[in-house]
Amino acid sequence: MIEAQIIPVRRCNLSCTYCNEFDSSSPPVPTEEILHRIDLLAALGTAVITISGGEPLLHPELDEIIRRIRGHGMLAGLITNGYLLTPERIERLNRAGLDHLQISVDNVLPDDVSKKSLKVVNKKLRSLAKYAEFDVNVNSVVGSSIRNSADALVISRRASDLGFSSTVGLIHNVSGRLEPLSEEQRSTYEQIQRLKTPFHTSALYNRFHENLARGLPNDWHCRAGSRYLYICEDGLVHYCSQQRGYPGIPLEKYTREHLKREYHTVKRCAPYCTISCVQRISMIDELREKPLEAITRFFPSKEHDDMPVAVRILTWLFLPTKQGGRRFFRSAALRLLGVR
Ligand code: SF4
Ligand code: SF4
Repeated sequence: MIEAQIIPVRRCNLSCTYCNEFDSSSPPVPTEEILHRIDLLAALGTAVITISGGEPLLHPELDEIIRRIRGHGMLAGLITNGYLLTPERIERLNRAGLDHLQISVDNVLPDDVSKKSLKVVNKKLRSLAKYAEFDVNVNSVVGSSIRNSADALVISRRASDLGFSSTVGLIHNVSGRLEPLSEEQRSTYEQIQRLKTPFHTSALYNRFHENLARGLPNDWHCRAGSRYLYICEDGLVHYCSQQRGYPGIPLEKYTREHLKREYHTVKRCAPYCTISCVQRISMIDELREKPLEAITRFFPSKEHDDMPVAVRILTWLFLPTKQGGRRFFRSAALRLLGVR
C-alpha cells in the first residue's frame, strides 16, 4: 500500500518567500497525462493520493482528477491556499468525491513573507464549514520564516471554533531541514499542542515534532520512494517535496523492484525531517512490522497512563470525533494496513 502526492500544476497564485514548490508561469499538466499517472499509481497499489502544487485549484480539470482517484477506490486529498474557494467551488469538490482538504494558513495578517492569512481566508473557512462534505484540516506553521509565531495559536483556535481539525507544522528551510526554534516559537508550539485532542497529542506529532521543536533528531526509517511517492509535474517519482531528484525515475518505469529497494534505503535527511505525511505513513509501516515496539514508541506511557496501549491505539483509529480529520486518517490507516 502506498500514499502518493501528485502535482497537476506547479504554478501558484501566491509567492510565499519560504516556499520552494511553486513557479509563476508553468501551464497545468494536460489532464490526460495526469489521469494516466493516477492509473499507474493505482496499478502500483496506491491507497491515498493527495493533490498538491503550486496551487492545485488552478488546474482547470481538477474535478476530473479527483473523480479518477475516487474511481479507483483510492482516497483523494487536496492541499490548497484556499484563495480560489467559493461556495460553488466547494460544492463541485463535494460532487467530485473529495475526501479531505488541507488549507494552510501562515499568519493572521498578510505580510511580505506570506499572504496565506487568516484575515484573507476567514470567509473561505466559513464557506468550508457551511458547504464542505469532506474533512477539513487547517494547518498553521511555526518556524524561522514566520514573523509572528503567536499567530499559529490564533489560527488553531479559529479552526477549532469552526469544528475543523488543525495541525501545526514546523517550517523547514529549502532542504527540508528544520531551523532551531526560538524560545517564543517553542512556547507557541507547546500552547497549540495543549489545545489538541488525544488524536494529535498521542500520535506522531508528539513523537516527531516535539523532538524537532527542541532541536533534537528523530530515530526513524523514512519509507519515501516506497510507501510514499511524490510525483512531480514532469511525471518523475521523487522521495518527497524536499528531496526532489531522488530517485527521479519516470512513474511509467517505476516498478515493484524500485519500491522494494527504496523501502530499505536509509535517507540521511531523516533525523531532522519535518515532512509529516511521510512520517505518518512510515509510522503505520512500523506498526505493521514491529507492533509492540511501535505502540510503545507512539503512545508513551506518560499519556493516558490509565489506558492499556491496545485500547489507546484502537481509540486513535476508531473513535468518532468532532474533528473531521480523524475520519480521513482512519480510512487511510486502515487501507495502508491492508484492511478495506
Ligand atoms: S501558497 Fe503554497 S505553493 Fe503557493 S507559494 Fe505559498 S506555500 Fe508555495
Ligand atoms: S527523510 Fe524522507 S520525507 Fe524527510 S526529507 Fe528526507 S526523503 Fe523526504
